[in-house]
Amino acid sequence: MQPAAPLLLHRHDSLKTLDYSVLQQCMHCGFCLPTCPTYVATGLERNSPRGRIALMRGIADGALPLSKGFGKEMYFCLGCLACMTACPAGVDYAQLFEAARADIERTGVLRRPGRDWTRRLLLGELFTRPRLLRLAGRALWAYQALGLQGLVRAILHLTRVVPESWRRLELQTPKVQPRFSHELIPPILKPAGRPRFRVGLLTGCVQDLVFSNINRDTAEVLAANGCEVWTPPVQFCCGSLHAHNGEPEWARKVARRNLDLFPVAELDAIITNAAGCGSHLKAYGHLLKDDPEYAERAQLWSQKVKDASEWLVAIGFRPPAPGGPSPTGSRERLTYHEACHLCHGQKISREPRELLRALPKVEMVELPEATWCCGSAGIYNITQPEMSRRLQERKVEQVLKTGASIVALGNPGCHLQLVNGLAARGITSIRVEHPMSLLAAAYRAEAAKPASMP
Ligand code: SF4
Ligand code: SF4
Repeated sequence: MQPAAPLLLHRHDSLKTLDYSVLQQCMHCGFCLPTCPTYVATGLERNSPRGRIALMRGIADGALPLSKGFGKEMYFCLGCLACMTACPAGVDYAQLFEAARADIERTGVLRRPGRDWTRRLLLGELFTRPRLLRLAGRALWAYQALGLQGLVRAILHLTRVVPESWRRLELQTPKVQPRFSHELIPPILKPAGRPRFRVGLLTGCVQDLVFSNINRDTAEVLAANGCEVWTPPVQFCCGSLHAHNGEPEWARKVARRNLDLFPVAELDAIITNAAGCGSHLKAYGHLLKDDPEYAERAQLWSQKVKDASEWLVAIGFRPPAPGGPSPTGSRERLTYHEACHLCHGQKISREPRELLRALPKVEMVELPEATWCCGSAGIYNITQPEMSRRLQERKVEQVLKTGASIVALGNPGCHLQLVNGLAARGITSIRVEHPMSLLAAAYRAEAAKPASMP
């Protein structure tokens, strides 16, 4: 019998092969504990960043087995990275978290037929094949537009033929847009005058189906600020879902496809308006550093990826005229929720606020616990519905304290989580908006009605 071929692991795909100094950085000070939503909820050391790092180190050292319990623990972690912001030692928890989850999937300690099938379908098929994803999106749109969703909901509610968790999940199904990004944005959108910059625009996967209007608004805002915007009509998922769920090879596959789509060297920046995607897109250099064909391009890509707010502030965006019309048609009070992967993952806090403060006739008030995770965290609301719901309710409570009629935020997962959280409480007086949509609306209102009396 032939000996089994050795597993070809990238250095950061396993706790045993990654740079051991990353694990050694933790000095067990505990500064991260009060910032960790799971630790604060349970008070258990194993549910804390410090506890999880200790478990990971035990596995890397071979002192602990990679068990089902460890697998469950790592999937109880939100991956919100609040611990990274708090950590005085600069522990790269994001790298540890992805390596640990990759180990869990490779060893199959959480394997179950239903789980395997769902992961294969979602991560392996739907989110690696953009045309298939759009086809599924069209089907979902038709299902919603024809009113079948209401009928199915009524049947599920009345007959209780499916488990409670499935019914809760069905209620969270996002509303799909009738037109996707490639139908709203031309492949090359030119600004009115001579272009100052040339940028690529990432349209995403969920963002493309559910928030294509935000992609269109982003393209318009970029063009209004002198950017020529290149938007390839068919794009791949950024791969963050794969990387955060222990599938680094699939993450590398879609990263290579995205690198093939954009002329990276010819662009001044590659723009994303989704925090979770941005955080991962900036890590392509790291993800593909062992790939001889793509490493250099991936490095350049990482340097050029910018969140839309980060880019606009860096190039000196044009604020709407202070006396101009409100973007919403009336005076509003607005608050801002900080998506984890924007504030903790990318350290971007000031820029979105700067854009929002520039909106005419909009009063901005700070949200208590603005950087506390809302419980969306990729597919956490599906895998850990109870903890997700607790965080969702906590976020809605904080929003209510501000008296705001708009919550601005820059990530599709948080957007859906807030919309669902508000709907669950029957709150219809608060809208959730992306900063790009508000800025685009302000420019449009200004064009329709030039600055007038206050
Ligand atoms: S990523 Fe978030 S949930 Fe996970 S250990 Fe860090 S702070 Fe806690
Ligand atoms: S703050 Fe950093 S160094 Fe301190 S215990 Fe947490 S992860 Fe370790």
